[in-house]
Amino acid sequence: MARINEHFLKLSAGYLFPEIARRVQGFAAAHPALAPRIIRCGIGDVTEPLPHATIKALHAAVDDLATHERFKGYGPATGHEFVRAAIAQGDFRSRGMDIADDEIFLSDGSKPDASAALEILGSGNRIAVPDPVYPVYVDTNVMAGNTGPALEGGRYQGLAYLPGTPGNGFVADPPTEAVDVAYLCFPNNPTGAVATRAQLEAWVAYAHRHGTILLFDAAYEAYVRDPAVPRSIYEIPGAREVAMEFRSFSKNGGFTGLRCGYTVCPKSLMGTTSTGDRVPLHRLWSRRWATCSNGVSWPVQCAAASLYTDEGQREVKALTDFYLANAALLRSAVQGLGLRCWGGTNAPYVWVECPEGLLSWQAFDLLLEKAQVVITPGAGFGSCGEGFFRISAFNSRANIHETCERLAVLAG
Ligand SMILES: *Cc1c(COP(=O)(O)O)cnc(C)c1O
Repeated sequence: MARINEHFLKLSAGYLFPEIARRVQGFAAAHPALAPRIIRCGIGDVTEPLPHATIKALHAAVDDLATHERFKGYGPATGHEFVRAAIAQGDFRSRGMDIADDEIFLSDGSKPDASAALEILGSGNRIAVPDPVYPVYVDTNVMAGNTGPALEGGRYQGLAYLPGTPGNGFVADPPTEAVDVAYLCFPNNPTGAVATRAQLEAWVAYAHRHGTILLFDAAYEAYVRDPAVPRSIYEIPGAREVAMEFRSFSKNGGFTGLRCGYTVCPKSLMGTTSTGDRVPLHRLWSRRWATCSNGVSWPVQCAAASLYTDEGQREVKALTDFYLANAALLRSAVQGLGLRCWGGTNAPYVWVECPEGLLSWQAFDLLLEKAQVVITPGAGFGSCGEGFFRISAFNSRANIHETCERLAVLAG
């Protein structure tokens, strides 16, 4: 009889987005006249079409595949040279960071990458995750058997939680205990918080002290406008020895449906064997890609490279400017109601404190029933998210204006 991976059975049943969908469908079925009014500011998915530079690159790449001369079969599992070079140059070396072309690993997105990273780490690591958190970091560790069972309140036994609160502006300091692996995400999903240079320096120093590996998710780096805010962990001296970085084209180029991202795995990043030997993770990560993947499709790699052309860069700037302007409108609407909020200036998410006395699912129900606006309840991102909700700026300008007006129901 075939045994299953029983760690999957530990996953909390009420996963956030299905529960949101269930409540929205329930409301729409009970109030068919109001259903067309529903505005979804819940899931963090982009709404604007792909850049023209990307569309042109996709068309040309499809035509390549139609000819004997330019046909492409299998490429290198970690991405074509010219794409890795464009990334290493465009995102790192041009900004003074020392990253080589062969330290870039192209993939179909950073959600799969965050999951795959666990394949090259051993079991028994003490793992720290933020709270509130992008649920992927937690659930992939549960599936990999790195946690105990679910506890009351949605946490898992065995994980170290890094609380984000108004007191620390939703940027946790390194813990006092030693952990082996720590997930960091800046600009943050769900809170929109950004870490200062000094805060990231403290994390890199901590990682050097304890032999910790930092898994740094920079999916939203293109939203950083403040020149003092780091866009990559590698802006911090010493990070090459302690951090792997996840990058995605989903939120800058709008590739959520096209699928492409990459990881940076510096050759100087080491892990430890059970006998205390130090081994470069680059060796394991390269082997993992060569064995488990045949890489990203030719049209998608050409699409990714298009974002590094002058035209592509201008269009990414315009797209992210558009969503940031949405975020600014949401922020001022929320503040106009006298509610406290975070994020929304270097990030496409606004994190709002619920009106006095409301839990986050109560705020969700109120906004759905009285305003037909769908937000994401903070409690779904972890116990520290209770009492807050996330509004996504990924929407049309018309929907954002409408949402800003309808948020007035929160004023009571
Ligand atoms: C959207 C998002 C990603 C991107 O995931 P893809 O698989 O590349 O689409 C990664 N991390 C966080 C925190 C995100 O919100």
